[in-house]
Amino acid sequence: MTKNLACIGLGSNLEDPEHHIKEALQAIDNIPNSQLDKISTVYKTTAWGMKQQPDFLNAVCGLYCGLTPEDLLNQLQQIEDTHGRERKVKWGPRTLDLDIICFGDLTLNSPTLTIPHPFFKERDFVLKPLAEIYPDLIIDGITVSTHLENLAA
Ligand code: ATP
Ligand code: CA
Ligand code: CA
Repeated sequence: MTKNLACIGLGSNLEDPEHHIKEALQAIDNIPNSQLDKISTVYKTTAWGMKQQPDFLNAVCGLYCGLTPEDLLNQLQQIEDTHGRERKVKWGPRTLDLDIICFGDLTLNSPTLTIPHPFFKERDFVLKPLAEIYPDLIIDGITVSTHLENLAA
């Protein structure tokens, strides 16, 4: 089966975020039938959506993934659970958040999965690290570096 390049956004702002991001990258590296490709540097960012919470650490990685997008989401949610992720407040503080930013050139809108991620164009904490590792990757018909320029404009 051909593998798709899945870009995964990582975020953490509780209980030693650096540790959660580092461990999550190792766990992503162990996802079956997949190979980790590139990893961005880690960015310190102010919270998006709900401001009154600690700063985040964010990063993005690319994974050549032989799973279905649903199976990848399951794997990522298992990793979040291992890190004690609690789902209380939308966009609230969390030990670990793993989002699928894009998955090959797939467009998907299901009850559990929207690909590309619905807010990636509005989030510099996604586009900056993504542009660092895949500036020429095309999502929604436009390169990542152009998405970043558009956001900054
Ligand atoms: P946001 O998606 O705006 O970044 P969030 O990450 O805080 O918000 P979560 O509570 O982590 O949201 O996830 C809620 C649900 O979003 C998940 O259970 C999952 O089914 C769904 N979801 C839809 N599209 C995606 C995607 N591309 N990546 C990850 N989860 C997604
Ligand atoms: Ca998220
Ligand atoms: Ca999420």
